[in-house]
Amino acid sequence: MDVYGALFRHALWPAWERGLRRRPTLSILRDLRRAERASPDELEDRRRRALAALLRHAYDCVPFYRRRFDAAGVSPRDIRGPEDLAVLPALTRAEAREHGRDRVSRAPPYPVIRKTTGGTTGEPLVIAYDRESEYWRQAVKERAFSWAGYRPGDRALHYWGEATAPVGGLGSRLKRAADQTLRRQHFVDCTPRGEADLEAAVRAIRRLRPRVMFCYAQAATELARYVVREDARAWDDVRVICGAEPLYDGDRERLTEAFGGPVYETYGCRETMLIASECEARGGLHIAAENVVVELVVTEPTGHERPARPGELGEVVLTDLHNYGMPFIRYKNGDLAVAKEPSACACGRPHPRLDSVEGRASDTLRDGAGRAVGGMAFNLIVSPIADVVRAFQVVQHGDRSITFKVVPAPGFGDRALAHLRRNVSRYLPGVPVSIERVESIPKTRSGKHRLVVVETGATSARSAP
Ligand SMILES: [Zn+2]
Repeated sequence: MDVYGALFRHALWPAWERGLRRRPTLSILRDLRRAERASPDELEDRRRRALAALLRHAYDCVPFYRRRFDAAGVSPRDIRGPEDLAVLPALTRAEAREHGRDRVSRAPPYPVIRKTTGGTTGEPLVIAYDRESEYWRQAVKERAFSWAGYRPGDRALHYWGEATAPVGGLGSRLKRAADQTLRRQHFVDCTPRGEADLEAAVRAIRRLRPRVMFCYAQAATELARYVVREDARAWDDVRVICGAEPLYDGDRERLTEAFGGPVYETYGCRETMLIASECEARGGLHIAAENVVVELVVTEPTGHERPARPGELGEVVLTDLHNYGMPFIRYKNGDLAVAKEPSACACGRPHPRLDSVEGRASDTLRDGAGRAVGGMAFNLIVSPIADVVRAFQVVQHGDRSITFKVVPAPGFGDRALAHLRRNVSRYLPGVPVSIERVESIPKTRSGKHRLVVVETGATSARSAP
């Protein structure tokens, strides 16, 4: 019996959240748990009310959205629910970058949390949100993890990408460290994937005996292959909660063999955090509908947009219902997902589902010694200089040399160049790097940027073993 886990859940965590950090995360979480037992109509009603309030705020207080509504000749009252949202044009990533200042609310709540994202599409973006939105994000995440059987205070191993620079001042770093220690969260960087790195990750699992692993999906799958190949499993079943990268056919089986499972998929992005996640029935990903509206849209050759039909791949369009500080309304984040026929899930929760998510793919590169390095590393490398990089792409050639293509934004100079050189060599030691300034990055046929291009001969580890 895990005494500390129970103590943490029932005493330490509530005291920490409510008392010390004065966060209402737990009361939002309680409310979200109640919503799991609501009817689909009740959930829909709640979503409409949240959307109406957000749109009113955006029209009254956010210059960018006031202009958008006026240009479209609509008022917030004309949008009665998510089905009417399409009267507003979608917000592209390029527009989100360009109009950053005008998307900030002129009245409280103001954005207080600021982040940059390299994004899976290679077009960095500065995002911001208010405090209340942060509480919602935390609560939505906790609920999704609880569906996967995670309980706060459980020993957890994060096999995740590591940030290139610590974020925030000493105070916030200490608070975060205290959070992690209390919560028994252990972190292992999943970016380097050579044999010695995989062996170190295995040792961490043996030592820590986690109940749950939070993983980049492809990093965990690569680790799972290693565990199976080396017959290294020496632990009871570990639940695996995947995110950030897609799960491919066969990955679940491999993860289950190596770690025990069960395996759960989650989908999120830095702009809104968790968007959808699997429940125990694992028949698609339930959308966190209390916090985010997800539309899947298909653009016809005529330029006309329509909702994706069940089974059809569409572009993800997001509306964050609780970020009033810097609203994201009808934001295209660059991901693609498959729509699902509306139907009741075996779990009984009323939340609509996505069938699957695609378009978070990142290829695997090789360093000078031939060790595998996850392409997601470049999101992390670019994040601290995202305000001066409009877009980027990493090409690894047949001789393993790297061309780092950058579409610079104003302010891109020697410091940014030095940051790129230093960090690319850190993640890909022994590989010659040239940084090339370009006008634009060509897109793939599906309209997505490919963040990483591995040319023939550089051996991509993306293919099945
Ligand atoms: Zn379900």
